[in-house]
Amino acid sequence: MSGFEMVVGLEVHIELSTRTKMFCGCMNSFGMPPNTNVCPVCMGLPGALPVPNRAAVESAVRLALALGCAIAPRSKFDRKNYFYPDLPKGYQISQLDEPLGQGGEVLLVGGTRVRIARLQLEEDAGKLQHEAGQAIVDFNRAGVPLVEIVSEPDIRSAQDARAYWEEIRRIALYLGVTDARMEEGSVRADANISLRPEGSEELNPRVEIKNMNSFRHLERALSYEFERQAAVYRSGGRVLQETRGWDDAKGATFSQRSKEEAQDYRYFPEPDLLPFELDAHWVHALREGLPVLPAVRRQQLAAQGLSEEQVRLIAEDRLRAEYFAAVVAAGAPPVEAAKWLTGELLRLENEGRFDFAQPRADAPEVAALIGLVAGGKVTQSAAKTALETLAEQGGTARAVLESLGLTQMDDREAVRSEVRAVLAAEEKALLDLRSGKEKALSFLVGQVMRRTRGRVPADLAATLIREEAGV
Ligand code: ZN
Ligand code: MN
Repeated sequence: MSGFEMVVGLEVHIELSTRTKMFCGCMNSFGMPPNTNVCPVCMGLPGALPVPNRAAVESAVRLALALGCAIAPRSKFDRKNYFYPDLPKGYQISQLDEPLGQGGEVLLVGGTRVRIARLQLEEDAGKLQHEAGQAIVDFNRAGVPLVEIVSEPDIRSAQDARAYWEEIRRIALYLGVTDARMEEGSVRADANISLRPEGSEELNPRVEIKNMNSFRHLERALSYEFERQAAVYRSGGRVLQETRGWDDAKGATFSQRSKEEAQDYRYFPEPDLLPFELDAHWVHALREGLPVLPAVRRQQLAAQGLSEEQVRLIAEDRLRAEYFAAVVAAGAPPVEAAKWLTGELLRLENEGRFDFAQPRADAPEVAALIGLVAGGKVTQSAAKTALETLAEQGGTARAVLESLGLTQMDDREAVRSEVRAVLAAEEKALLDLRSGKEKALSFLVGQVMRRTRGRVPADLAATLIREEAGV
């Protein structure tokens, strides 16, 4: 027992994948040659005026609604002033006291609830890179629409912090408001962590760990910081309120600046933008248009009798979850559908042979195939082969089975002649079987399967082998 618990809140930044930037007509795209995707507005040149991107406001409102936030009927932008080489304007347009969304809650996979404090719309800064002792800057990212989601300090473990961040990202992906590419920095997080004796309500100075873009880094950084702060308290010291970074190579946080050096952002209302009022009907329509969200999907899937792992895999992705629902709606028993989806279809997706975004296999045909297996009309292995073809080429389950010659052989005498052919070719196994070696039976069944490409039910093959062998 450590005697301490961690008190953690997260600030998650999500880049919105709009066509253009937040306040100008520059493309919102990643990977262009440095400093080619800029204009007087996102560079903050004198006289340039920002114009809010309606699509970004819409995405932010949808995200706020999905997180259960109350949408402010009136909202405004503020200037957050600071000097940093990646900030061409010398300020970031953000939201201070009238953010777009307030309140809300996220239900984590493990069952923990984390309250949301606020959701605000802002713009991203450029990107600073350190190379060979020099700092170089790329302003292409300056002005990319960004949503910041601030949680209440409800998180008590590194695992829950990760689960929270993952859930926020999953929800944003369900909505299609971001590409959520971690390696491109589309989703980043800062974590605030303080410690207190277990069971106490006291609040101690907190450390902010800035700018992480990996779930693993977050988990490691919080675990490290927990140990570090606990050691400070145990030795009778005081934890300083400060900002720290995470060095993954060293596996340690390091001090960046103390509270005394903290910035005064000199916030004031953005003079170039009017406060904006959101039409209640528009917000209502956006709410109505939300997809079924991950937590609800997980509840539905669990209620259908799926295992925890199956629930996790299917609810991970909106299109997967919707495809599963369509297969079930077409009559497949949920437990069977889950088996095929998390087994075969996910494998084919990993191999690049199936795409839930553009499925060639129609959900009702997959349901039909599952029905044929359940009804004993098609063997398991034949159905697997047929599913591969369905996934890659589409068509109907029937047609695929027929074209592959995979429809079940239900003519007993036809099967018998296949069995005879196998026994004639496998003299040794036949002798083994007759001398009581049961292993020989499964070998012979396997040979019949091979010969018929899985078109014979295994129990029928075994029965006929015994009959023909006279055992
Ligand atoms: Zn621009
Ligand atoms: Mn921010």
